[in-house]
Amino acid sequence: MTKALNENAPCTRDKVQALNEAKKMVDLIETSEADITDAERHWIAESTYQNFADHINKGFLEYRKSVTETEDFALTDWEGQGSILKDVMGREYIDMLGGFGLYAPGIRHPKIVAAAKAQLDRSPQYSQEMLDPLRAHLAKVIAKLTPGDIQYGFFANSGTEAVDGAMKLAKLYTGKSGFISTLKGFHGKSLGALSLLGKAVYRKPLLPLLEGVRQVPFGDADAIEQVLINAKEVGDDIAGVVVEPIQGEAGAIEPPDDYWPRLREICDKYEVLLIADEVQTGFGRTGEIFGVDNWGVTPDIMCFGKALGGGVIAMSGFFSTAKIWKCMEPNPFMHTTTTGGNPVACAAALAQITVLLEEDLAGQAKAKGIYIKEKVNALQKVYPKILKGIRGRGLLLGMEFPNDEIGYKVASGLFSRGVLTAGTLTNAETIRIEPALNIPYELIDTMLERLEDTFKSMS
Ligand code: PLP
Repeated sequence: MTKALNENAPCTRDKVQALNEAKKMVDLIETSEADITDAERHWIAESTYQNFADHINKGFLEYRKSVTETEDFALTDWEGQGSILKDVMGREYIDMLGGFGLYAPGIRHPKIVAAAKAQLDRSPQYSQEMLDPLRAHLAKVIAKLTPGDIQYGFFANSGTEAVDGAMKLAKLYTGKSGFISTLKGFHGKSLGALSLLGKAVYRKPLLPLLEGVRQVPFGDADAIEQVLINAKEVGDDIAGVVVEPIQGEAGAIEPPDDYWPRLREICDKYEVLLIADEVQTGFGRTGEIFGVDNWGVTPDIMCFGKALGGGVIAMSGFFSTAKIWKCMEPNPFMHTTTTGGNPVACAAALAQITVLLEEDLAGQAKAKGIYIKEKVNALQKVYPKILKGIRGRGLLLGMEFPNDEIGYKVASGLFSRGVLTAGTLTNAETIRIEPALNIPYELIDTMLERLEDTFKSMS
């Protein structure tokens, strides 16, 4: 059984065992689904559990309800298509989490997989010396997709790298060093991005971080202006204001409608750069192609990640205007990465953008978000003691519960009914609804039925 951990498995150097373990897994990866035996499936589930405990982090096993509340063999990620996830034992789940925004076009979208596979067969990485056509072309496509005169970009692997790059660009361009970000804001966990983060739990044990970062309440443009006034008065320099269009990790928090237009005005007035962290909101998630499109604002720098690689491969980037990017020209090696923007990632990103536009993923997100909110609001009237409400835009939604405990019960109730959701990073007071933007209405209805059933059983 998965729960019976072998507590003190020692790990010493053993090349033969390393080879055998690696070979066994490669063989399984290359075995077709139909040919994997039940015994092998049990072995995968059990050894995954044990290896998480011995080599990744036992803490995850405590935390993950997919592990702690699975009666028989921990839920082990294995297969997926569209909005359906299957574990290695063949159990099916409706994916309402979408990998925290990763799976905007669904899992394994055929067009995106096909492009990545074709590129894999041509050249998986670039030489590091010759010019890579895919990166160049993808940058042009993104320049055409982004608002205003955003034109130049750099590709990396993770959202946090995109934010770090944006911070470096802002410092280089302005010659200033400080940043303003928001309370409860999330920008990733590298030391640079972490400095912006708005939660003590992740920052405090690692202090000191970057100097000169101030966090202010999200949605309060006056608070940002006040910090800029104060900074000027005491001679502190602020390079940029880094904000999510809609806060994601904080639980789908929308700002007031005049927030982004006011941020634009304030940043212009005090000559600081406006940096939109679109890692979670970009590429259709909020019902517009980019989160800032909800308010018709053009930031100075935009950060992308998650959905950029189409849910197929890690991909991120930060983009800016020609005027700002000029400061990167004298030494283009000021910011580099060996693997960021590799050809397979670029192929996936190019295909992702064709899917975004051809399937109108943003339009789908808008309509489906409204649909889910209406239905969940109706449920809230029947179960006001369980559900406080639902908020967010497009398919970046958060259901709010009176407390963490009730939220956890709902998430595990949904889980036991075959629906995958999750709380925010630290608690379940808000449960995310962040599915693929092309999730079929039938699956949304099934999820809603299971949600009602969960509420019924709890009341
Ligand atoms: N920025 C935002 C708005 C995010 O939501 C996230 C991740 O959730 C990040 C940055 C960090 O991205 P990654 O986890 O790929 O480093």
